Amino acid sequence: MDDGLRVLRRVFGYDAFRGEQREIIEHVVGGGDALVLMPTGGGKSLCYQIPALVRPGVGVVISPLIALMQDQVDALRALGVRAGFLNSTQDFDERRMVEAEFASGELDLLYLAPERLQSEATVSLLDRGEISLFAIDEAHCVASWGHDFRPDYLALSALHERWPKVPRIALTATATKATHAEIATRLKLEDARHFVASFDRPNIQYRIVPKNDPKKQLLDLLRTEHSGDAGIVYCLSRASVEKTAEFLVRNGVEALPYHAGLDARTRADNQARFLREDGLVVVATIAFGMGIDKPDVRFVAHLDLPKSIEGYYQETGRAGRDGQPSTAWLAYGLQDVVQQRKLIETSEGDDAHRRRLAAHLDAMLALCETVDCRRVRLLAYFGQRGEPCGNCDTCLSPPESWDGTIAAQKLLSTVVRLKRERNQKFGAGQIVDILLGRKTAKVIQFDHDALSVFGIGTELREAEWRGVVRQLLAQDLLAVEGEYGTLVLTDASGEVLRGQRVVMLRREPERPTRAAKEPK
Ligand code: ADP
Ligand code: ZN
Repeated sequence: MDDGLRVLRRVFGYDAFRGEQREIIEHVVGGGDALVLMPTGGGKSLCYQIPALVRPGVGVVISPLIALMQDQVDALRALGVRAGFLNSTQDFDERRMVEAEFASGELDLLYLAPERLQSEATVSLLDRGEISLFAIDEAHCVASWGHDFRPDYLALSALHERWPKVPRIALTATATKATHAEIATRLKLEDARHFVASFDRPNIQYRIVPKNDPKKQLLDLLRTEHSGDAGIVYCLSRASVEKTAEFLVRNGVEALPYHAGLDARTRADNQARFLREDGLVVVATIAFGMGIDKPDVRFVAHLDLPKSIEGYYQETGRAGRDGQPSTAWLAYGLQDVVQQRKLIETSEGDDAHRRRLAAHLDAMLALCETVDCRRVRLLAYFGQRGEPCGNCDTCLSPPESWDGTIAAQKLLSTVVRLKRERNQKFGAGQIVDILLGRKTAKVIQFDHDALSVFGIGTELREAEWRGVVRQLLAQDLLAVEGEYGTLVLTDASGEVLRGQRVVMLRREPERPTRAAKEPK
């Protein structure tokens, strides 16, 4: 039996390697560099822990997850692995002790926060011991456009110059081609062997539904399918985290808030309770979850649209790490598109940066509006192939698509009329009211009932018109401007108005009428 397998069994108590673990471990034990892309829960840790135990010297693990280092080290120590960490949460004495252990060769693994390597003291400490390998965890933090960017990660390219003989293994769960390439370049891992695992998570059922009354839709989901289950609910803002958590508690669901505005103590307490207790729901901003290893999270629900597929994949990936059936549920609506486009418009950075953000959002919107298998779409985004899965909403109840060209023309003409007739700015609500021929106060105030387009859209319901607006926004045939979300034409709108382009739309599902029990 080879050394790696022996350590897997003796130390970690597992029978067999998973996926490509064996190849990765053999490669690193042999002194090669590796770039490992594996989804969350795939088993990345063993890929550096085992080589660190097999090779002579100490494995140095660079990780940005300071809050988790203590837990990781405790878990390793419980298995008899000699592990320690150095980060800013320690006092002088604790640090000195770990440094002494390292220098005298009493450690197998040393976890370091990336900023530690900026200090000459740490570098000369590392020079005093023998290093078996460098593991760079969460390696996508080196990608400058990502939301997890850490400037300290850029300095990690210097590891190779300083310790050219020590193998390096970079690991991440984020894996578009672009991130992949950027990690290799920025960490100077050009000669590393790439190991790319399948990103499919077959036990996760993906569902994306139109948002109408999100808190109540969420409660329905919890009551009908996930009663008593542990889960994570993601919201965009701190305020909606608070409101949603209160709402759930009022309706008998044990829910805890988590966001960066809470004090460190409350955050740590809520996270610890979520990990320790059964059946808790955490309502959180995306600040929650990086590195969370709770195997039995049964659902991840998004009440707001994620900014990119990468974010969506990473957040939903926290469900079902134990392999049991789990749900990834997202409610998304017109307002999400308006809001996200506005955020991009007003974001800092140059035009190229904004274009990248817009491209990320467009990919996410395409996933939301697809009539094909969600999983096939998701995997295609990561450059991987899949077959229709039978375990996502579009596979389970295939949505119809319909020729929405005429509806789009009616809607776009209304936008044109409003622009021509006055200098006023109107959002989606007013436009839908005009199409449906509703004499609301605001319609009468602006004489919109006198427009030729007034009442030309009675063949669709209000929800359907909102769906048309949302999908035109998603297809870039309509845009929003300014703080009131004024609808305006795009360069491509003209093709639709002139009849040069067919617009295919996804049929809006009937609004569910079943209500579990009226929420408070
Ligand atoms: P990642 O870092 O890729 O998200 P982890 O390294 O935390 O994933 O592993 C996820 C879970 O799978 C952990 O509980 C780990 O102990 C378990 N695991 C990893 N490799 C194996 C294996 N070969 N056999 C059984 N369980 C494994
Ligand atoms: Zn599917």
